[in-house]
Amino acid sequence: TKPAMRVAVTGAAGQIGYSLLFRIANGDMLGKDQPVILQLLDITPALPAVKGVVMELEDCAFPLLQGVVITDDPATAFKDVDVALLVGARPRSKGMERKDLLEANGAIFTVQGKALNDNAKRNVKVLVVGNPANTNAYIAQQSAPDLDPNCFTSMLRLDHNRALSQVAAKTGKPVASIEKLAVWGNHSPTMYADYRFATIDGASVKDMINDQEWNANTFLPTVGKRGAAIIEARGLSSAASAANAAIDHVRDWVLGTNGKWVTMGIPSDGSYGIPEGTQFGFPVTCANGKFEIVKGLEIDAFSQERINITLNELMEEREGVKHLLAK
Ligand code: NDP
Repeated sequence: TKPAMRVAVTGAAGQIGYSLLFRIANGDMLGKDQPVILQLLDITPALPAVKGVVMELEDCAFPLLQGVVITDDPATAFKDVDVALLVGARPRSKGMERKDLLEANGAIFTVQGKALNDNAKRNVKVLVVGNPANTNAYIAQQSAPDLDPNCFTSMLRLDHNRALSQVAAKTGKPVASIEKLAVWGNHSPTMYADYRFATIDGASVKDMINDQEWNANTFLPTVGKRGAAIIEARGLSSAASAANAAIDHVRDWVLGTNGKWVTMGIPSDGSYGIPEGTQFGFPVTCANGKFEIVKGLEIDAFSQERINITLNELMEEREGVKHLLAK
């Protein structure tokens, strides 16, 4: 049997953690033949709740789960990890400005970036889920100078999956038949879900839908505001689908996509005019543990406008945390 992979999860006592941990331990993320050791981080007051979740993990008797570490110390949590899911983040509380949110999270992600830098495996795969995810990933990456910047990614996969399900509903075709969908930009309502290149059984989705008004005024707002709609309906945020998207993201990164496009937030290599290093959602393919941006796609005027909006938002967020990264 394979040696166990070490997987860190932060915010392990939270809602997303409660969906995520069981699926990782069940082999949904790294494969049904891949043993795992979970290294769970949360803040000190949340540790009793983490212990409770771990009791439930034990009671599942997952054959692949070879060990669990519970800690409030990032260095311990990230020791020798192969994968790190950074889920814990400071939620926006009442009366909190975006600036304060960036500040609170900046403090968390500088510390965690440094701890990854000093403790994780050199080829660690980091996925930031905690919001603002792209900027938190950028902060962590900037705080980890000894790691390859491409170790750090952020989660756009939930937006991608939401877009897939909307296109499936509109066309009446199964989600699994849709290929070449892309989501550009920030994990926020400004993200740009783009089905111009998408196909179903080889036929163009754009031609099939043939309704730019639906694209601009129904599809994009529905995908962009889906999180808020779920909070409104359920009284709680979208935790299970967020956990599922995190599983999809890491599984595809580790095990490959066989040429299929998926969306990942990754440090830009300058493609499509996105400044190098910016954590930006791009269509990618994955193979051999690496992602590659789908290059050479035509960006029309409508798309460019949408990409500019989401890029500007990211640039403003980056400006807001600049002082935290001053060397
Ligand atoms: P959740 O588990 O519901 O969410 C965690 C993070 O994921 C939030 O930043 C949330 O953003 C984000 N997120 C990204 N995508 C989604 C989505 N589609 N739906 C919902 N959330 C999404 O939060 P809880 O409050 O239940 O739990 C947070 C845990 O993190 C707690 O256990 C807390 O103790 C811990 N924590 C750990 C820290 C650390 O390790 N240093 C620091 C701070 C907290 P959004 O806020 O926008 O919903």
